[in-house]
Amino acid sequence: MSENCLFCKIIKGEIPSKKIYEDDDVFAFYDIAPQAPVHFLVVPKRHIATIMDMKPEDCELVGKMLYRAQLIAKDLGLEEGGARFVFNCKADAGQTVFHIHLHVVGGQEMGWPPF
Ligand code: C5P
Repeated sequence: MSENCLFCKIIKGEIPSKKIYEDDDVFAFYDIAPQAPVHFLVVPKRHIATIMDMKPEDCELVGKMLYRAQLIAKDLGLEEGGARFVFNCKADAGQTVFHIHLHVVGGQEMGWPPF
C-alpha cells in the first residue's frame, strides 16, 4: 500500500467505489467516468506505480488481473461483442492514477488507432 495513492484508498474502502469483485490479490470496480456502456477497472492490491515498474515477481499478479478481467467482462455481457483491455502507462498514454489498473471497456464498437 502507498499512503497517498487514490486506488490504495479505494481498495482499503477509505474512498467509495462501485465494487464488482475482490479477492486477496485483485480488486475490480466500475470507472467513475465511464467511456463506454461498460467500463470497469481491475487493480492489484499490491501498489505498482506503472506497468513499466513491473518486476519478475509481479508477473503472476498481472496475469490474475487479466484473468479476472475477462471473467468479469463475460459476466457483464461482453463475450459476444468483445472488449478492449488497456493499461495506460505514463504521460503520453494519459495515465492519471499511478497505481496500475487494467481498463476494460465495451458494449459498443470502438475505433483504432486511439488518437
Ligand atoms: O488510465 P488513467 O490513469 O487515465 O485512468 C484512471 C481512471 O480512474 C480514469 O478512467 C478515472 O475515471 C478513474 N477513476 C475512478 N475513480 C476515482 C478516480 C478515478 O474510477 N475515484
